[in-house]
Amino acid sequence: MESGNKVIDEAAQGSATVVESENKDGRKVYIESYGCQMNFSDSEIVASILVKDGFSTTKNLEEADLVFVNTCSIREKAEQTVRQRLRSFQNAKKNKPELQIGVLGCMAERLKSKFLEEEKLVDIVVGPDAYRDLPNLVKQVDEGKKAVNVILSKEETYADISPVRLSSNGVSAFVSITRGCDNMCTFCVVPFTRGRERSRDPETILNEARDLFNKGYKEVTLLGQNVDSYLWYGKEGLKKDYKNLSDEEKARSMNFGQLMEQVALISPKLRVRFSTSHPKDITDEFLDIMAKYDNICKYIHLPFQSGNTRVLEKMNRGYTREWYMGRIDKIKAVMPDCAISADIIAGFCSETEEEHKETLSMMEYVKYDFSYMFKYSERPNTAAAKKFEDDVPEADKSKRLSEIIALQNKHSLEINQSYVGKTFEVLVEKPSKRNDQELAGRTSQNTVVVFPKEEYKVGDYVTVKIDNCTGGTLLGKAVK
Ligand code: SAM
Ligand code: SF4
Repeated sequence: MESGNKVIDEAAQGSATVVESENKDGRKVYIESYGCQMNFSDSEIVASILVKDGFSTTKNLEEADLVFVNTCSIREKAEQTVRQRLRSFQNAKKNKPELQIGVLGCMAERLKSKFLEEEKLVDIVVGPDAYRDLPNLVKQVDEGKKAVNVILSKEETYADISPVRLSSNGVSAFVSITRGCDNMCTFCVVPFTRGRERSRDPETILNEARDLFNKGYKEVTLLGQNVDSYLWYGKEGLKKDYKNLSDEEKARSMNFGQLMEQVALISPKLRVRFSTSHPKDITDEFLDIMAKYDNICKYIHLPFQSGNTRVLEKMNRGYTREWYMGRIDKIKAVMPDCAISADIIAGFCSETEEEHKETLSMMEYVKYDFSYMFKYSERPNTAAAKKFEDDVPEADKSKRLSEIIALQNKHSLEINQSYVGKTFEVLVEKPSKRNDQELAGRTSQNTVVVFPKEEYKVGDYVTVKIDNCTGGTLLGKAVK
C-alpha cells in the first residue's frame, strides 16, 4: 500500500531529517525521528538551528559526529523502540568514542536522569522547548560534561525559524501553528512532555507558507495538538492567559478559522491541510470557511477515542457521544464530500464490552475513511495512571482492538469502492513505490491515488478517473 502524508506515518518512523546547508566541512549531525508529525517538524527546526551553528545534516549514520533521536512517549511501545535504538548507537560509539549521542523531544523530561546517569546511554538530553540551547549544550559535551535542558517554556514557538526541507518531496510541507496542549485528557502524556498550549504569531506562519509556495511547494499542513484551539492575541503567551487581556488586546486576536482563511488566500494553487482537530473545539464558523475555499482540503482528522459518553467523561475529552455525532452531522451537511478519520483507543480503564460496542456503532455511524487504532497503554504521571486502574485484561484489549481494526478495514474498502468511476484532482507527490512508470499523489480527501505517469510529473495537479482500488489506495488513469 502507498502511504499518504499521514499524521503518524508508520513508513516514516525512524527516518533521518536532512536540511540544506553550505557547511560541507562542518561536523555532521544525524537526526532520527519517531512519533507524530509534530516531532518530524521539530526535527527540521533542530536541524536548522544546528546548521546555523556550522553543522551539516546527514542521512548516513556512519559519517555522523552527533546522533540525535527525537523521541515519542505516547505509548510504551514507542519508548521501547527508542531505547533499542539508543543501545545500538552505544555500540557505534565503541568504535568512535568522540561520537555524541542525544535524546530530544517527549522522552527527555521523564527519562533524563535514567538516560544520563543510570543507564549512561546518552550525552545530551533536550526537551521540546529548549532546542535553541542546542549549540551551547553541544559545547558543554565537547568540554567533557553531560548536558541537559528540559525546561518547558511559556512563550517558545520557534516562530522565526523557517526550516528548509531537503528530505521532503518538495511538494508538501508541515508548518507548526501551536505547541503544547491544555486539554489534559486523562490518558495522555503530551501536556506533561510538551507543556502548556501556545499559539505562533500568524505573520510568521503566513510568511513561511508564502515562502514555501514561492519555492514550488503545493501543499501545507498546519500542525498542532489541537489546531481548533489556535488563538493569537497579539503577543507570545499561554492560551490560558487570554482571559486576562484588555478588550483592546482581545480585538487584535486571530482564531483558527481566520488563520486558515488567510493561508487559503495565499493562492488557489496552494492546498491547505490541518491536523489535529478536537471535537469539542471545531466550530461552525471554521467549517463554513473550510467549505468556502476549494483549496482547503476536504479532510478532517477528528479523533473520538471512545463511542461511549461515560468513558469519554473518564477520559476528560470534554464532549459526549451525542455532541460528537452532532459535529459529524454538521460536517456532512456543509461538506458532503469531506473525508473523516479518527483516533480510537480500545480498552481504556473500566471500559465494558457494551461500551466497546458503542465505539463500533460510532464507527458504523460515521464510516471513517481511515483510523489510527490503539490499545490503551498506561503512561506515567497521567491522571489515569494516578487515579484509575488499568483493569481491562490484555486479551480483552486485543480482541476489542482487532474488532475495531476489522471494521475499519471494511469501511475503508467500501469507501474506496464508492470512489471507483469518479474523477478527482490529484496532487502528484512522488513516483509510485511499486512501479516507476506510475505516479502517486493524493485527492483533497487525503486518499492515495496511483496512476500511469505518461507526461505528468511530481508537483502537477492531475484529473484522474478511478477504475479500481484496494483498502488503502485508488488506482486510475489521467483524464485529458
Ligand atoms: N491531540 C490529538 C487529539 O487529542 O486528538 C492527538 C494526540 S496523540 C499524539 C495521538 C493519539 O494517541 C491520541 O488521539 C490517542 O488516540 C492516542 N493515545 C494517546 N495516549 C494514549 C495512551 N495512553 N494509550 C493509547 N493511545 C493513546
Ligand atoms: Fe493529548 Fe488530549 Fe491534548 Fe490530544 S487533546 S494531545 S489527546 S491531552
